[in-house]
Amino acid sequence: MDQAMTTGPCGSTGRSVDPAWDVVVIGAGPAGAVAATLAARHGLRTLLVDAKRFPRRKTCGGCLSRSAVTALRQFGLDDVVHEIGAAPIDRIRFTAQSSTSEIDLPAGYAIDRARFDAALVDRAVGAGAEFRPGCTAKVLGVQGGWQQVHLAVGERSEVATTHVAVVADGLLRSSLHTEACAPANAGRHARIGVATVTHGDDFRVESGTIEMSIARQGYAGAVRLDERRILIAAALDRDALKSQSIGEAVTAMLLESGKSAPNALLKCEWMASPTLTRRPSQIAGERWFAIGDAAGYVEPFTGDGMATAIESAIAIEPWFVDAQVGWRPAFVAEWSVAHRRIVRRRQWLCRGLAWTLRRPWAVRGLLALSRSAPVLTSRSFARLQQPRDFSSNPHGQAAIA
Ligand SMILES: Cc1cc2nc3c(=O)[nH]c(=O)nc-3n(C[C@H](O)[C@H](O)[C@H](O)COP(=O)(O)OP(=O)(O)OC[C@H]3O[C@@H](n4cnc5c(N)ncnc54)[C@H](O)[C@@H]3O)c2cc1C
Repeated sequence: MDQAMTTGPCGSTGRSVDPAWDVVVIGAGPAGAVAATLAARHGLRTLLVDAKRFPRRKTCGGCLSRSAVTALRQFGLDDVVHEIGAAPIDRIRFTAQSSTSEIDLPAGYAIDRARFDAALVDRAVGAGAEFRPGCTAKVLGVQGGWQQVHLAVGERSEVATTHVAVVADGLLRSSLHTEACAPANAGRHARIGVATVTHGDDFRVESGTIEMSIARQGYAGAVRLDERRILIAAALDRDALKSQSIGEAVTAMLLESGKSAPNALLKCEWMASPTLTRRPSQIAGERWFAIGDAAGYVEPFTGDGMATAIESAIAIEPWFVDAQVGWRPAFVAEWSVAHRRIVRRRQWLCRGLAWTLRRPWAVRGLLALSRSAPVLTSRSFARLQQPRDFSSNPHGQAAIA
């Protein structure tokens, strides 16, 4: 372990009587920022850290679903959507094998992740959390009764002590890579996520509509962020990138689906995610809980990753509050069960869709179904995005039952 000092708020030296922080939240995406806001509102001494400097970009399709907005609203956080000038969306159009179908969606928004995530972090700071950008964290384990978290900013490092670490560091769970906790490995057929923002005038994307193009090597969603900017995100087979650039692979995919592809895609700067589809064997341990993508992720087709991240941040609250009084080993199993309830339905559907989208005959069937029974398909999406009620939430049971 590092020989660094143990410090707390305002650099005060921590002693074993009390940890330096009540809660250390690792990762300031939607999961981490919401968890930090709720912890700070409880009056807990909350430290939120992120390895990146903010505002930071994130590989994402930027579709904030109705359930995500509703969850934010229940905690007075939905105003961020208006503050960042998010664009409403209420339709999705599928294009595959040169045919199209479209259905209504529960009202959501197209968002710029850099702005959205930064606005949520502002809320956490406004609630009283301390935010340290450019700070990489590692969970070291419990010593002297407290969780130890190694924090590094450039060459400087320290070990912070806390009652509990909330791990919200995304797909890779890099803060947990220790012998005690294995990383969440991606599945054999896991795809890679990519995204870019283009101004392509030669690409028609209607305001309010998600344009979803499906091909053999993956799928791509495009939304209009504003009059000038179109956000394109895709999930691609790793093989598709062996002999071509990301721009070439997405262009080929759009053309195969039957859509046009903007020339600008070949010159755009693309962001890429680690391989998707991760199911970690452990989502909690002594004095730590994982939330958001760090607790597991399938694929982005249904556009509910942010909703799950936000809902898990809300649902974990009773456990990190109870952990202030004392740690009970039962918390680990309790959180695993509660988290499974949050993600079960969505991940099940997402896995089913991932399977379907890899089979051209099944895609044909899906398109035919959404054309012949648009109301039924639309209702399935609406069910998926059913808002949860977090109003009475002893250990999250009411909310996630
Ligand atoms: C191609 C693609 C398209 C998608 N489209 C959508 C969509 O349209 N709608 C939707 O709802 N979801 C979508 N998602 C999913 C969505 O992006 C994620 O589910 C969501 O960002 C998860 O939020 P999070 O807070 O758990 O993690 P993240 O947003 O990934 O945030 C994790 C943060 O942790 C930080 N971090 C990592 N390691 C450390 C460390 N050791 N120390 C400190 N900080 C660390 C990172 O810098 C990052 O800021 C998409 C994903 C992909 C890949």
